[in-house]
Amino acid sequence: SPVLEVKDLNIYYGDHHAVKHINMPIEEKSITALIGPSGCGKSTFLRTINRMNDLIHGARSEGEILYGGINLLTSKVDVVQLRKEIGMVFQRPNPFPKSIYENLVLSLKFSGIRDKKKLKDIAEDCLRKAALWDEVKDRLDKSALSLSGGQQQRLCIARALALKPKVLLLDEPSSALDPVSSSKIEELLLKLKEEYTIVIVTHNMQQAARIADKTAFFYQGELVEYGDTSQMFSHP
Ligand code: ADP
Ligand code: ADP
Repeated sequence: SPVLEVKDLNIYYGDHHAVKHINMPIEEKSITALIGPSGCGKSTFLRTINRMNDLIHGARSEGEILYGGINLLTSKVDVVQLRKEIGMVFQRPNPFPKSIYENLVLSLKFSGIRDKKKLKDIAEDCLRKAALWDEVKDRLDKSALSLSGGQQQRLCIARALALKPKVLLLDEPSSALDPVSSSKIEELLLKLKEEYTIVIVTHNMQQAARIADKTAFFYQGELVEYGDTSQMFSHP
């Protein structure tokens, strides 16, 4: 059954109708790719799922995004908690300018976890899940900014995992990276979908074909095609 169900979603910036009448189920433990030309509403749609789009001046949405029977677009939703459960990773890696270790534990400390053993265990677990542990285990106290772009992006994924998300939203997570780093991210996402639900914006059709279970094509704010990736890319 779907973990998220989008129903007649419309998103506006002022009176600009950026996303139009979207209906989409998002299945648990799957990868859904959002593709389409620049400006067609992919990022707007993605950011609305965890209410990050609220932060943009003039942004407004109508319709429903059902999550555990609750419409995430209503005012009673605790958006701070929501953004932990539905984590987000951006195109440009944005680690905190702090140690690798602090990137993982900072928000856990803020949420009241003080036990050092517990913090270390969570940090190690998330770094392992993000396929970064072997590369950083001997330099956890070094600045996150000393890592390569691809490592920084995997750290940002690990940081999101530390908050125990159910869903990960990724906005072109590998398009700023070299091909080797990019394929590491793809490999990682295929592993993470065993445990998490993943929605990824990509402008790269081959990437969608390689990793996505479902593909959604956007065009001028509309969802023009949606279905199994294998069906969509199997035209002779
Ligand atoms: P995509 O991710 O597919 O490139 P976006 O979601 O960024 O598309 O943009 C969808 C539409 O919304 C575009 O017409 C864009 O100009 C507009 N838009 C995006 N961000 C903003 C913003 N912060 N303020 C106003 N309009 C925006
Ligand atoms: P608090 O902020 O609760 O006082 P500390 O700052 O004393 O905690 O401890 C966190 C620091 O300890 C981190 O910044 C890091 O440098 C170091 N640290 C803790 N665990 C590790 C670890 N597994 N590997 C490397 N450094 C660690």
